[in-house]
Amino acid sequence: MDKKLIIFSDFDGTITERDVIITIMEKFAPSEWVEIKDKVLYKRTITLKDGVEKLFSLIDSNKKNEIINYVKQVTKIRSGFDEFLDFCKDNQTDFYVVSGGLDFFIEAVLEKHLSKLTILCNKGNFNSERIKIDYSYLPKNCSLCGTCGFCKIEIIEKYPRDKYTRVLIGDSLTDLSPSKVADIVFARSDLIKYLEEEKIPYIPFQTFYDVMDELVKRV
Ligand code: MG
Repeated sequence: MDKKLIIFSDFDGTITERDVIITIMEKFAPSEWVEIKDKVLYKRTITLKDGVEKLFSLIDSNKKNEIINYVKQVTKIRSGFDEFLDFCKDNQTDFYVVSGGLDFFIEAVLEKHLSKLTILCNKGNFNSERIKIDYSYLPKNCSLCGTCGFCKIEIIEKYPRDKYTRVLIGDSLTDLSPSKVADIVFARSDLIKYLEEEKIPYIPFQTFYDVMDELVKRV
């Protein structure tokens, strides 16, 4: 039996040109967000889960609608995304957005595309003064890191390698561990550096046209 192609794509900095969490922090958070971000991404002294939680706890819940309107206005989607979703549809290939970001801004940015993809992410909780996170995909038994608030590995591993060719598309530290279990990795930006360090094979990309050209050769 032929293996079925399945796509797992990161959102921030992958589907979008810029990281939307950073876009939100720059506009809505007090300046201490920068240090939290550096501790998560570069010094690695705060886990991803604690980091994202701390970042959103800097922002008042009543900013929700303002944030949604702002991200819709300023977020640019990476070139070729529309065409790539059509390619997936034509090939009966499921496209999953796998993101440690939050539902309210991901759905806002992707509102025109919702019928062509499935979003897996955590949820913003606006019931308290500051924004909190409701977790849906915490790692249960993850051996590779186990410290994030959204386990891409356990999602990918629900689709066994003998039945599926699992494609991961990503840009950053949060995509490093899932790159170790995926069958094909498309990488850009910081992720390339991390993959080089750990000698994990990948295909570099700039646009979704690049991803599509490469996959066309394989389907
Ligand atoms: Mg990203």
